[in-house]
Amino acid sequence: MRIIETRVNQAIEYTPEQEAYINPYYGCTAGCPFCYWLSFGGWENKIEVRQNIPQVLEETLRNGLKPDRLFIGSYCDPYMEGIEDVYGITRECLEIIRSHDLPLTVVSSIRNRLILRDVPLLKKMRGLRVVAELCRPDQIALLKKGVPSTNIEVANELSAAGIEVWATLAPYLPGITNPDMILRNLDGRIPLYMDPLDIQKGTIQEERMIRFIASDYPELAQCYESCMYDSRPAFEEMMAEYKENNRIKCFPIPQ
Ligand code: SF4
Repeated sequence: MRIIETRVNQAIEYTPEQEAYINPYYGCTAGCPFCYWLSFGGWENKIEVRQNIPQVLEETLRNGLKPDRLFIGSYCDPYMEGIEDVYGITRECLEIIRSHDLPLTVVSSIRNRLILRDVPLLKKMRGLRVVAELCRPDQIALLKKGVPSTNIEVANELSAAGIEVWATLAPYLPGITNPDMILRNLDGRIPLYMDPLDIQKGTIQEERMIRFIASDYPELAQCYESCMYDSRPAFEEMMAEYKENNRIKCFPIPQ
């Protein structure tokens, strides 16, 4: 993975739904085969460190642009090991967001314990939510072996510290993700938002999913020949099983 130090002209970007977000880094080390961002050329195999994003963010907010809520992390994980612990740009951005008293949602796959470093600061932030993305292949593999996964442990520690945490299983991988096991291990205060797998033919995600299933779950190869492209029936069947469970919810997560 190459690390490149860059500079930006703009700190805040917007989704088509007009949600405001910042990415202190460009790129991600999690390697999810279904990742949406794989479709963007040049996104993979490198991490851009946006060294001046805290200064640009400060200037933007000082000039009066105040979104109702800011998200940190979409095409990066703001707490990547070997990156945030070295550069600390997420931490700097949090301090600025805190000083402007903006409601914040932190989106992270929390595959390491780095976010816990920031708990005292996070607890001071207005309207803070942490969205913990639990559908990460390395973490699911740990759970399957009966080993507690870091992301669930960290989500639980955040919740125990009084931070509002929402978890996601996006996408739900038929035969691989086990909501029961996750609910058993996850703090009872944390809701779990689910989304079906949606892989299109001829895409890089299709190629990666085929490779992932062949190497890690060869026993599911036949199932994934069809369910990869149309996982709705398996998803709906699973949701029906949990219809009495008010912790299991469907995407989208509320803003
Ligand atoms: S954690 Fe998110 S951004 Fe990173 S590879 Fe996985 S899906 Fe993509």
